[in-house]
Amino acid sequence: MVGAGAVGLWCACTLAEAGLRVTVLERRHPGAGASWGNAGWVVPSHSVPLAHPGALRRGLRWLLDPESPLYVPLRLEGRLWSWLWQFRRFSTPAHVRRAVPLLVRLQRRSAELYGQLAAQGLEFGWQRAGSMSTFLDPQEYRGFLDEVELLRQEGVAAEEMDAPSAREWEPLLRAGLAGAVYFPEDGHLDPAALVAALAQRAVQLGAKVQSGTEVRLRADGRKVTVETPTWRAQPQLLVVAAGVWSALLLRGVGVRLPVVPAKGYSITVDGQAGPCCPLMLTEARVAVTPLRGPDGSPRVRLAGTLELGVWDSQPRSRRVDAIRKAVGRYLQLDPQGGEVWAGLRPCTPDGLPVVGRPRALDNLLVATGHGTLGISLAPATAELVAQLARGEDPEEVRLLRPDRFG
Ligand SMILES: Cc1cc2nc3c(=O)[nH]c(=O)nc-3n(C[C@H](O)[C@H](O)[C@H](O)COP(=O)(O)OP(=O)(O)OC[C@H]3O[C@@H](n4cnc5c(N)ncnc54)[C@H](O)[C@@H]3O)c2cc1C
Repeated sequence: MVGAGAVGLWCACTLAEAGLRVTVLERRHPGAGASWGNAGWVVPSHSVPLAHPGALRRGLRWLLDPESPLYVPLRLEGRLWSWLWQFRRFSTPAHVRRAVPLLVRLQRRSAELYGQLAAQGLEFGWQRAGSMSTFLDPQEYRGFLDEVELLRQEGVAAEEMDAPSAREWEPLLRAGLAGAVYFPEDGHLDPAALVAALAQRAVQLGAKVQSGTEVRLRADGRKVTVETPTWRAQPQLLVVAAGVWSALLLRGVGVRLPVVPAKGYSITVDGQAGPCCPLMLTEARVAVTPLRGPDGSPRVRLAGTLELGVWDSQPRSRRVDAIRKAVGRYLQLDPQGGEVWAGLRPCTPDGLPVVGRPRALDNLLVATGHGTLGISLAPATAELVAQLARGEDPEEVRLLRPDRFG
């Protein structure tokens, strides 16, 4: 296994539980990538993929606003051009109709598996308090209700709320709200605690987690060989779950994946009581998650921004300030101070993860490209990876194959 993020660690636990001998190779430490400071949402309600009709129109509008939640570099490199071209191709109603049922099913299964993990006594802040999408703009709100219909067709419960009911439910909301939708099925967790708990559990199940081990890959015929600075080996099965870096690693063995980084930020403010359930400040695309510190004290996490094609994890103050400003527009909450973090989401142009075996190589399995949903999809992904490792061909994987991009 390469990568000790949420996806790699879930896969390690599931494979070790199935009786396989597992070694996780991680170049830094568990949670060094996107899985640490994210919003921690596990949300069947967020099953409309990023690639959907209207995404490009909205994206172009955002590009003209320096405080918008989206940033795309003005000078696009070739790979990003081709990614955007494919993204445009996938932004159709037909693609949404294919993707929504699958994403709802996988996120529901993940929520079940998180519930089972928590029931075993692992502490990672798992709660099923629902989530609420809030709106300032009546037109955005009305548009969102079409999405809600799609979700309802898949059995996702949704309660529309007018402004007074929403404010009664969540007193932190300011006046001026256009409306809100509450999704009772959604859950959330503390991602840093999750990664720590999974790494510990993997070891308890007999897996080795080897930090500080950077991996490179080499193809020898139809087999992949793993190379580290001190040794090389040809494993019976190699699972690449290295987040956005998977694409770079796999290029070395001739597997081309259109996975690009979408950098996002979070600000975690200690001692500040958050909302009673996670809130999406929809026009600003800021997620607000109530969390608890190690001593049980309240903390709140504000997460947002999508900087497409940006590979560094350095926070940019303009983006951080835009998140703080947005929070002030929706909530009576002091968003100053706090710990700032940035991570790279591994994004595919169709908004679906990549899970499966590339055709040309026999001992390779890929589990990456989870974009904005890596925490939500990690447990279900691990189950699919375990099925593939046993030689099965689960139906879900048909839309997720690495070779689907041509
Ligand atoms: C601001 C923000 C908010 C988010 N909110 C949510 C949310 O609420 N819900 C949700 O579901 N998702 C959310 N996400 C997305 C989620 O964080 C990611 O999809 C998920 O963490 C990806 O997990 P991963 O295990 O695939 O990758 P990562 O966590 O990035 O892990 C990859 C690991 O591979 C290691 N690695 C890379 N290359 C090598 C190599 N050559 N050798 C060895 N090791 C290597 C890295 O060091 C890293 O530890 C958010 C992301 C951001 C940035």
